[in-house]
Amino acid sequence: ADTATDLDALAYRLDRDHVFHSWSAQAALQPLVIAGGRGCTVWDHAGREYLDLSSQLVNVNIGHQHPAVTRAIAEQAAQLTTISPATANLARGQAAQRISALAPDGFDKVFFTNGGADAIENAIRMARLHTGRDKVLSTYRSYHGNTGAAVVATGDWRRVPNEFARGHVHFFGPYLYRSEFWSETAEQECERALHHLERVIQCEGPASIAAILLESVPGTAGVLVPPPGYLAGVREIADRYGILLILDEVMAGFGRTGAWFAFSRHDVVPDLITFAKGVNSGYVPVGGVIISDPVAHTFDDTVFPGGLTYSGHPLAAASIVAALDAMASEGIVANAERVGRETLGPALRALADDFPVIGEVRGEGVFWALELVADPHTRTPVPAATMGKLKTGLLERGVLPFIADNRLHVVPPCVITDAEATAGVAAIRDVLAGL
Ligand code: PLP
Repeated sequence: ADTATDLDALAYRLDRDHVFHSWSAQAALQPLVIAGGRGCTVWDHAGREYLDLSSQLVNVNIGHQHPAVTRAIAEQAAQLTTISPATANLARGQAAQRISALAPDGFDKVFFTNGGADAIENAIRMARLHTGRDKVLSTYRSYHGNTGAAVVATGDWRRVPNEFARGHVHFFGPYLYRSEFWSETAEQECERALHHLERVIQCEGPASIAAILLESVPGTAGVLVPPPGYLAGVREIADRYGILLILDEVMAGFGRTGAWFAFSRHDVVPDLITFAKGVNSGYVPVGGVIISDPVAHTFDDTVFPGGLTYSGHPLAAASIVAALDAMASEGIVANAERVGRETLGPALRALADDFPVIGEVRGEGVFWALELVADPHTRTPVPAATMGKLKTGLLERGVLPFIADNRLHVVPPCVITDAEATAGVAAIRDVLAGL
């Protein structure tokens, strides 16, 4: 046990001495040491366990260390670890075929990237070249990645220190709990948000707009499931003005909402779909764009001016094939839908009934957010210190949370059992009772 504790201390010290972390002032960081995992549980070297209600960065949809996926990666590594994207490779072709088979009809081609941000970059590039137009519209409450165009498409604060790409315009999407449109019902919010979008398009000049880029369900912004009719309404407006619709499924896709694609419940088909995270649960870094046939045909005889050394990396490709096959054969997406409907959703709503600090519970599948407010009437967010106490309390009870602003996101792997969901919510209840 001493050796194991030493390894935890070593991992911590090496991290603090040499690892520069994302989105952080470095000095005060206290990263948790994680050495291993299985399913919904992770542990440190000394064996202290945590129930992972975060899926890390909301990406480990299949759970930690799924044996079929780790085996496929090992087998591919033994056969061929890497090969130029210009070659034909069986694992790469199978990964593209599997993804395309899950997409709506008419999405036959997949372009692979290294992660989510460069999927957005390339979707924007395709949309600009396909339409011959420049501007990209996206919402303020969004996150699309940290590279040039992706971070300027991002609506949240992370855009502001990074505004160096051109042609990005933002608008407000629907968010009934904090409506920008004085709405009292979901119908009003939908209708008014669509009106606002159309006015922004008219004011920007429709002929200058290449694409509307939306997270199907804005994730980091607070699991903002769009009201019925919103995405279909955006599609109609986009069509009216010859604008492409890019749906970002990086966080919402591949089981998170209890469906393969979050947009499939919203009666809408986009022109481009971006993915990453859940497609292989991050076992190897990968992302990509699923391309509708008309956009793909633009590049039949015209060069597509984009590419990456690791596009369609064999280890990533093999992990995608194994992950998607296991998710299908083990009913993992159906499990996410059922647990959300039968256990997790009802348990979280019951928490909100008992604790006025929970202003709203939103979500579906294994994609939930609890919004914490100091006063249920003014809906003023709780201070950061309250969220800090919530986080510490959960970690002390062996639960890994995902916290953003005044929200606790409950986003476990899609393989979560009813018993794990119940235990996780019980820990949250315990901490809330002591806040
Ligand atoms: N798009 C969405 C919706 C995301 O949630 C994220 C990451 O959280 C990204 C894009 C960027 O993905 P990556 O971090 O893999 O570049």
